[in-house]
Amino acid sequence: MSGRAALLVGVFATVLVLGGCAKPQQLVTAPTSKGQRAFTYEPMRGPSARDVRVETPKPVVQRDLRPALPDHDAAWVVRVSERPWRYIVVHHSATHRGSAASFDDWHRNHNGWDELGYHFVIGNGSLTPDGFVETGSRWPKQKHGAHCKVGDDETYNNWGIGICLVGNFEREQPTEAQMGALARLVDYLRVKYRIPDRCIIGHGQVDDTLCPGGNFSFGNLFSRLRQRQAAREAVAQRGGP
Ligand SMILES: [Zn+2]
Repeated sequence: MSGRAALLVGVFATVLVLGGCAKPQQLVTAPTSKGQRAFTYEPMRGPSARDVRVETPKPVVQRDLRPALPDHDAAWVVRVSERPWRYIVVHHSATHRGSAASFDDWHRNHNGWDELGYHFVIGNGSLTPDGFVETGSRWPKQKHGAHCKVGDDETYNNWGIGICLVGNFEREQPTEAQMGALARLVDYLRVKYRIPDRCIIGHGQVDDTLCPGGNFSFGNLFSRLRQRQAAREAVAQRGGP
């Protein structure tokens, strides 16, 4: 190596050391025949393919924070074009006994209607099990109700889902099973059809009637709805059940 070349190598190595590109111990010094100190250096070895650890990218978890449709019966899901429901109207039957079939018979043969006026009936253990939800014949057809005509105003029949709890809640209380079933049904319907709380009403709030009875508590119903909503949101925040 000529003196000029050795000088260049020395300068280059110094730049590398000062620049932090190579560790000093990687440098090897050796005397030249002319007594000058020449520098050689171990070139930095780049990573070989063997050294490169390919990290599998972690999948990005897409959390769906939209509330899932609440727990529901298969019979509540309709297979025809859905009616744009705007209200949920709660009734009591004002009878101690009853079922969708018995009310259907009454509505046809006593009232002269085409079929059961309600969309859903929730049993009290008299003719159907306590808390059992029956889906009326109108619901799968998405047909208007016949449960809440106010004067000549058919608004609540046309756009209101009619739910009847069997019982006379002027005299008795709805059962725990009925209230639980009602909350489950109303929760599904309000989420599915985006019905706000103020449109979940009792028959007597829009018509001159005691229905659904003084012992029916909307505070109780809304408390159950809030609990269901909170439980659903907690599951969504955790990223799934
Ligand atoms: Zn009513």
